Amino acid sequence: MITPRKILWAFIFICCPYLSASSDDHSHHHHVISPPIPTPPELQNLSYAIYPTDPEYNTDRFNFNKRFNVFPKVIIYPTTIAEAQYVLTILKQYGLEFSIRSGGHCFEPGSLSSNYIFDLSNFNSIVLDVANEEVYIGAGCLLNQVIQTLGELNYAIPTGTCPTVAVTGLTLGGGIGLLTRTYGLTCDSVKSITLLNADAQVIEVNENSYPDLFWALKGGGNGSYGIVLGFTFKMHYIPSATFFELSWDWRPKHTAKIINTWQRWAKDLSSSISTSIRLEYKEGVTRIRIIGIKVGSAPFTEWVEPFQRFNPLMTIHQGTYLDTVQYWAAEPSLPFNKIKSKILLKPLSKFVIHEFIDYLDSLNKHKPNLRVFLNFDAFGGVVPDFDNAFNFKKAFGWSYQAIYWPLQTQDHLAHGLIHYIYHLTSHEISKYSYANATDYALGHKYLRAYYGKNVDRLINVKNKYDPDNIFHWRQSIPLSIN
Ligand SMILES: Cc1cc2nc3c(=O)[nH]c(=O)nc-3n(C[C@H](O)[C@H](O)[C@H](O)COP(=O)(O)OP(=O)(O)OC[C@H]3O[C@@H](n4cnc5c(N)ncnc54)[C@H](O)[C@@H]3O)c2cc1C
Repeated sequence: MITPRKILWAFIFICCPYLSASSDDHSHHHHVISPPIPTPPELQNLSYAIYPTDPEYNTDRFNFNKRFNVFPKVIIYPTTIAEAQYVLTILKQYGLEFSIRSGGHCFEPGSLSSNYIFDLSNFNSIVLDVANEEVYIGAGCLLNQVIQTLGELNYAIPTGTCPTVAVTGLTLGGGIGLLTRTYGLTCDSVKSITLLNADAQVIEVNENSYPDLFWALKGGGNGSYGIVLGFTFKMHYIPSATFFELSWDWRPKHTAKIINTWQRWAKDLSSSISTSIRLEYKEGVTRIRIIGIKVGSAPFTEWVEPFQRFNPLMTIHQGTYLDTVQYWAAEPSLPFNKIKSKILLKPLSKFVIHEFIDYLDSLNKHKPNLRVFLNFDAFGGVVPDFDNAFNFKKAFGWSYQAIYWPLQTQDHLAHGLIHYIYHLTSHEISKYSYANATDYALGHKYLRAYYGKNVDRLINVKNKYDPDNIFHWRQSIPLSIN
């Protein structure tokens, strides 16, 4: 029988490859033509910059996501605070447009520019202060370096799960991962932020100095208030932890029950456990997985009562926190990606679960050569206890729909697929999204979507600390809403 759903799928697979970019996503067209301001002499021939004639240029101009093909005039990598101050002073003096980049994992070209890129990669030191359970982490440090260095001493900060994300973008947008319910978002462990501000001065931002700015940088800080040079974090001592994974081959009939059971389970779980559930399709193989970490030496028995009857394939590994890393730190290696996200104010409805399962089932039948993840992370635990600009501390959790593809010729298919499932379920879930799942297709709605009722407060802080809007990009905090 030919159902409307089948017609839709036929449309996505047959027509999408021939359509132009989807109407609400302008990321392909962000290469803005700017007036021809020549590079000022002060920024020519810097020993710590990459120019279009340098051999590194064609790798360095790309971010993790190879969807964005941008040609900056100069990519500048200051190595000292004095150089960073000098570069910002010159950029300001000539009124030059620039982006700020740490790990280059923004899902849109938010850290790229066709003018100047201010790159923090050289600010990559980690200084441990075990006596005070504190650590200074340079802005350019990637998570694998942080996890490894702290983990060797059985310490950790709560991070995300991709090892090549930088600590900076993660923290400034919140930071969600497998320690979230135990220790809060990444930004909740920050004690102080070393910031190069709009006056090109270096200031320490914390609860006692600039508390309003401190609040804004924790969750609302990406590229809006200054250039972060480093953070002082509180470290958490974790001598023992258990990683767990429950997984199933694709059985659409059982999946709704598993998701519902997980949702009920996650809601009342002890804060020593953080967990996500994932429906994933990888080049023809569809699976459902529940993963998580339980902090402490107590055995992980909580799964038995709710999940044993579904007969999962189990991985349980108890050891040091560093031992667990091999199970969860993974980088999706396909070059192109797109994400859309939703804050879940409450558990998913029957309708949405049904649509998600149907969607995965259709992928399973059509077997396109790409990867699709529908992921749900539970909040709760200690998440509501902290004061920060992440607006959704009391939410049930968040979900993302991500798609990764190997060939540029699949762009339209990939966009068609992700927009299809997003638009089918979006209105049923919530109006809100996670700022670190940067999505230019939100258009002018991004501010309310990312920051909800915190928008006005973030704008006030912006006016106070960056009244000339020196730090801006397509989804930064503006001086006013127009
Ligand atoms: C594969 C993958 C997996 C991910 N997994 C998770 C996860 O598990 N949990 C999670 O919470 N998030 C996750 N993310 C999202 C990630 O947290 C964001 O993309 C984050 O913003 C990336 O930070 P970055 O420094 O690497 O990126 P960049 O692209 O360098 O920067 C991101 C944004 O921050 C701004 N910025 C960068 N450096 C500075 C600075 N020094 N000062 C001021 N502003 C700056 C940029 O201008 C840009 O707007 C993932 C992303 C990817 C691509």
